[in-house]
Amino acid sequence: MPRRFGHIEGFPPTTEFANRQKLHDAHVHRPTQAGISGGRHEGADSIVVSGGYEDDDDHGSYIIYTGAGGNDSNTKRQIADQDIHYFSNAALIKSQLEGYPVRVTRGFGGDPKYSPKTGYRYDGLFNVVDHWTKTGNRGFQIVQFRLEQIEDFPQSPRLLVDERREGPVELRSTVVQRQVRSSAIIGRVKSLYQHQCQVCAIVIKVEGGPYAEGAHIRGLGRPHLGPDVVSNVLCLCPNDHVRFDYGAIHLSDELDVINTQTGRILGRLLVRPAHRIDMSHVAYHRSLWKS
Ligand SMILES: [Zn+2]
Repeated sequence: MPRRFGHIEGFPPTTEFANRQKLHDAHVHRPTQAGISGGRHEGADSIVVSGGYEDDDDHGSYIIYTGAGGNDSNTKRQIADQDIHYFSNAALIKSQLEGYPVRVTRGFGGDPKYSPKTGYRYDGLFNVVDHWTKTGNRGFQIVQFRLEQIEDFPQSPRLLVDERREGPVELRSTVVQRQVRSSAIIGRVKSLYQHQCQVCAIVIKVEGGPYAEGAHIRGLGRPHLGPDVVSNVLCLCPNDHVRFDYGAIHLSDELDVINTQTGRILGRLLVRPAHRIDMSHVAYHRSLWKS
């Protein structure tokens, strides 16, 4: 049975289910206990939000969702650290990287404002737009994801993933992978560096001029709430932008670029004299990936 991405025919958003078995039978959410359905290489196709994790924070159109692991299912308390490499968490990261849509089902145990009073309700498709690690309410390391509701697809397209090929067979309905934010502030930082990447010093020249991306050091959205100001923006090439956003690299207080996995210093961040970088944002970014 290949993993199914997108809506499941016959079960549009707002469809209600009496229990997890019915969700399973409908293919809306296959696991009967786990909150995340997915594989490390395939991505996650669905989640259930039902109050199982005390660090979850449901806002309706977006959800701060805690990854899997370290949770006592009886008390719903976090009793151990979570691992970003655990397959369920890796699956959600894969969906973020590839822009796969994730079906969200809310259960009766979730935030009463958005959850059904009994049973489960399929609430449609969301994108994973961000993830990070932090210390949760109980003092353990947790992995969190920000999921944002997708304004619905026209004809409930389905993305079938062929497990043998480990990728989507049908690319027609992939969604925007990563928002490249653009603002006057970003434009200023990019022109300050003449589009040169502050990490690898490359300038990408394409038809129409040089290309670079503005990367907010402390993200703009919740829960980060970083400001859109020059001191919170770096000029990066797309590769280093992804590395930075996903925590593959971070910065030291000396502005060394550090490989998060190995701890190795890759070099010094290129900084123009006119560019003051707010070190509190650098420390915040670092705290998301390195505790
Ligand atoms: Zn670069």
